[in-house]
Amino acid sequence: MSQTITVKIKLLPTKEQASILSEMSETYISTINTLVSEMVAAKKSTRKSSKDIPVSLPSAVKNQAINDAKSVFKKVKKNKYNVIPTLKKPVCIWNNQNYSFNFSHIFMPIMMDGKVVKTPIRALLVDKDNRNFELLKHKLGTLRITKQVNKWIAQISVTISTVQKTGMKVMGVDLGLKVPAVAVTDDEKVRFFGNGRQNKFKKRKFRSLRKTLGKKKKINAIRKFNDKEQRWMKDQDHKISRTIVNFAKENKVAVIRLEQLANIRQTARTSRKNEKNLHTWSFYRLSQFIEYKANLVGIKVEYVNPRYTSQICPNCSEKNKAQGRKYKCKCGVEKHRDLIGAMNIRYAPVVDGNSQPA
Ligand SMILES: [Zn+2]
Repeated sequence: MSQTITVKIKLLPTKEQASILSEMSETYISTINTLVSEMVAAKKSTRKSSKDIPVSLPSAVKNQAINDAKSVFKKVKKNKYNVIPTLKKPVCIWNNQNYSFNFSHIFMPIMMDGKVVKTPIRALLVDKDNRNFELLKHKLGTLRITKQVNKWIAQISVTISTVQKTGMKVMGVDLGLKVPAVAVTDDEKVRFFGNGRQNKFKKRKFRSLRKTLGKKKKINAIRKFNDKEQRWMKDQDHKISRTIVNFAKENKVAVIRLEQLANIRQTARTSRKNEKNLHTWSFYRLSQFIEYKANLVGIKVEYVNPRYTSQICPNCSEKNKAQGRKYKCKCGVEKHRDLIGAMNIRYAPVVDGNSQPA
């Protein structure tokens, strides 16, 4: 198993470096746009090499631009020249032989007074969880640099190969609103994740603040505030998925099972329309985070048919409906309803394809 991810790093170039990067990334996309239009006019791929391109870029970067232009042209040709894209967003790309870094700087060849100089640019390589630096120990691909609003961002593609965990140990995870997640393993190790009450409190606070802002019709403030809420929720999902996967790792779990969500494609499209869809969307994101983090440590994620997982008694198979948070069965089983869900998800039929239909 291997997967490629992008590690985002904030760059802190000096004023001079920033203006060089701006210029280089404008040149980079205009080089691609020129090459693409030449290839479209000729109706064939270019034979140009870096020597044939008279722009002020390091030759390795020119070669990267040629490759990018060729792949753009390939797509254009495949679409029978119907759409010819023009790149607008400035970007500059180095291949993995042309940059290096230590824990405080990325070293990359940039143009200084017409010469190529490998230059250290200050970067926040070590974030508060020390995660970036850990990820960058794996196989590195290209380095992309873009400007987002007023921030310079480096995106390094990283390929991580993992060894699929052996063993059969399964863990079921039930995602919910009141309790964000409940997990149970084959050998009945149980863990409740996240803080439902805290989430509820925070969400209520967000809602009342939004109302106050709404009365004052501060559209920009509301928008800013929504972004903040989104970021907070995403951060919560990252935290919960991380602790779930760590729990699985501690318990030597080989497979995590989650419920398959219905119609996520439709739901995603209309996600802002109603509360219920919004929930499905947030479950979807949490599932994706769990899958991605689990795969990184060699744990497989499988999706199961959610039918009756909240009703069947895991002891006697009788169907019951939970009253509030409590699930009770005649046979004596009495547990939190979400735990019953997780226990059933553990052994529910796995859906073909093993992934969310996104
Ligand atoms: Zn029962």
